[in-house]
Amino acid sequence: MKDKLEKIFIFTNLAEESYKVKDEFIEKVKQKDKSIIVSDELTEDVDLIVCIGGDGALLNLVQRLDFPGNPIVGINTGTLGFFQDILPSQMDDFIDYYMNEQPQIETHTVVQADIFTKEGLKHVYGLNEIIVTGVVGCIIHMNISIGGSFIERFSGDGIIVSTPAGSTAYNYSLGGSIVDPRLKLLQVTPIAPMNTTAYRSFTSSLILPSEQSLIVVPDMNQDAFVSVSADGFVHDFHKVEQIHIHYSDYKKIRMVKYYNYDFWRKVKEKFLSE
Ligand code: NAP
Ligand code: MN
Repeated sequence: MKDKLEKIFIFTNLAEESYKVKDEFIEKVKQKDKSIIVSDELTEDVDLIVCIGGDGALLNLVQRLDFPGNPIVGINTGTLGFFQDILPSQMDDFIDYYMNEQPQIETHTVVQADIFTKEGLKHVYGLNEIIVTGVVGCIIHMNISIGGSFIERFSGDGIIVSTPAGSTAYNYSLGGSIVDPRLKLLQVTPIAPMNTTAYRSFTSSLILPSEQSLIVVPDMNQDAFVSVSADGFVHDFHKVEQIHIHYSDYKKIRMVKYYNYDFWRKVKEKFLSE
């Protein structure tokens, strides 16, 4: 049987603390078993990706390394660290746990936007969310259909389509609901929706089952740009005809969780009390 930990890959943000934790992690893992390889590049045979930083580091990792399928563990040196399940002080215990026990894995599905423009088709993927907005400070109008039915002509700053994992991020600041990651659904939350006799938009989130897709047709001058952002990475597009937003069929990530992980306890710790 293949040992659980033969090869690891470490990704950090640029904080000095994260580099320090990286050195400590390598030292500790080598103490347990000096044959473990710390790889300079991410290959399929990497048994564990160690992501050191905050949630931003994890989002950077998935965006830059295209949602790798290898198990990922987050060590929190960031400010919030909702995805980052272990603290630097727990590294030793975590390595023992990972090597000797059956680690708990949380799978996160990824939301995908297919952007059809006059110049071709592009794809953007998000672990937290996909955001569609217009020019900052300007209203965007867009026709939104769900599963083939026209639903609304949205007017406002834009919409965000959040995964359960992203429900605690921007979605939550906009008044969206926190979703248990065991549920497979997409949450469409409006950003400053207009709801007057001139413009009528839904003002609450809409919750869709995972097999539904959303079709967005921006109703604007075709030369104006539409921003499709994912996890804080902004992409501007011109001449957008349609945007389809749905779960990705192939991309997903697997987060390794530590002892007694419980989603709702984590929500309480991160949002209500330390
Ligand atoms: P950032 O500037 O550090 O701000 C984002 C904050 O949200 C950080 O505190 C981050 O945690 C936290 N966060 C990220 N993903 C989370 C999640 N799934 N659940 C709970 N909190 C989460 O930027 P960033 O770290 O690169 O994160 C990008 C994300 O920021 C985007 O995906 C979007 O969701 C969010 N955002 C929020 C607002 C808002 O709330 N008004 C506006 C724009 C974007 P760390 O401190 O550990 O990094
Ligand atoms: Mn951050």
